[in-house]
Amino acid sequence: MRVAVVGTGYVGLVAGACFADSGHTVTCLDVDPLKIEKLRRGEIPIYEPGLEELVKRGVREGRLFFTTSYDEAIPTSEVYFLAVGTPPLADGSSDTQYLESAARSIGKAMEKSKNRDLRIIVNKSTVPIGSHRVVGEWIAAETKAPFEVVSNPEFLKEGSAVDDFLRPDRVVIGTERDDVFAKMSELYAPFVRQGNPILKMDTVSAEITKYACNAFLATRISFMNELARLCELAGGDIEEVRKGMSTDVRIGKHFLYAGIGYGGSCFPKDVKALVSTGNRYSSELGIVAAADAANQKQKTHLVKGIQRHFGSDLKGKVFGFWGLAFKPNTDDLREAPAIEMIRAILAAGGTVKAFDPIAMDAAKAQLTDISREKLVYGKTAYEAADGVDALVLATEWNEFRDPDWTRIRLGMRKPVLFDGRNIFDPKKMIGLGFTYFGVGRGKYRVP
Ligand code: NAD
Repeated sequence: MRVAVVGTGYVGLVAGACFADSGHTVTCLDVDPLKIEKLRRGEIPIYEPGLEELVKRGVREGRLFFTTSYDEAIPTSEVYFLAVGTPPLADGSSDTQYLESAARSIGKAMEKSKNRDLRIIVNKSTVPIGSHRVVGEWIAAETKAPFEVVSNPEFLKEGSAVDDFLRPDRVVIGTERDDVFAKMSELYAPFVRQGNPILKMDTVSAEITKYACNAFLATRISFMNELARLCELAGGDIEEVRKGMSTDVRIGKHFLYAGIGYGGSCFPKDVKALVSTGNRYSSELGIVAAADAANQKQKTHLVKGIQRHFGSDLKGKVFGFWGLAFKPNTDDLREAPAIEMIRAILAAGGTVKAFDPIAMDAAKAQLTDISREKLVYGKTAYEAADGVDALVLATEWNEFRDPDWTRIRLGMRKPVLFDGRNIFDPKKMIGLGFTYFGVGRGKYRVP
């Protein structure tokens, strides 16, 4: 099949590369000429395990192309994926300007083309409920050519995006038409050979499913974070509580980790968008709103602990930060709790030495408002821990899990450790001479 993917970001590039790898001919389109130039030169603009190899193979074997031109991508393709960003507006609702621009550009290019075969327009972006109708109206305003809009939400996770796309738990297709569902199923068939389902449902339900999943997972995290605060005050250990909960098969083991809050480009924005949609329909989503509020609080919870330990004025204090990305295996800093914590520490007068295995270039490019005297970057994890008053673990990259603690302790001004992801064993760390603070580990020490 010939496929166009409009928007070549985390989702679009992964989807395009994976479809190309399964034998389809894919043109990835983006309005950012620098991104497209880079990709044409074989440079991958984002970090995602396994992606580079897939993109290079697709290009080498003549199945993956990059362009900024709708007139190049649209006439030759039969399925168009919309994978542009839908960032949040100030009121929490989604900004659909990129979606509208992309949909209208597709419509214009379809109109110019002589081809009048049915085209399938796939909403892969996370879009407000009812968007399939609106996208249809935008396209219909530009062309008389026949088309059908389908909802096909994406569930991949940054950091394991390629693997998630190639082996999805399920594929959700929102369409009323059997012929369109059949075509979409054909496209996804190579990825569900092990029997995972391709679910056909109405378009609105498909749109809601995406928000429902993210809001539910975010709620689990916020629930654990609130319990962690209780553990700190009551003298319990959230890790013991987690184990006690996750062994209950009704609950399961995923998304039950207390920490410094969820971030990234999806959970915060999708949770807010769902609350805003609920308000639009006068259907209050109080649980989801509470998950969002709890997360806001959690992002600076550990900084408050740091200030309880060192005093509210952090002037003269240096903090080593391990991890900047919102989670391991990505360079994405969108809504990363580490960044919010760093800003809070700087605002309280402290300075920061940071290290992230992958996201440091992205941080240098984005945090240009912070002076280099206040925020310096270590070349290694050890360098970022050297000469600091406390070390803060913000992202649980594997390489931070088992370092040479004696070397670290000897290099620090004071051996104080704030474990924002509860990856270290408190007993071991205390035994090694550290003052250890985790999240929800009241049994050991409360920050
Ligand atoms: P992104 O910001 O990484 O990429 C979006 C791309 O779209 C950018 O490269 C941008 O230049 C391009 N673009 C903007 N307007 C365009 C236009 N008119 N024509 C062509 N290209 C245009 O975004 P992302 O993280 O890939 O997310 C895309 C969508 O997928 C969002 O709705 C997001 O909520 C959803 N989603 C993201 C993830 C994730 O983990 N990142 C997972 C599931 C769903």
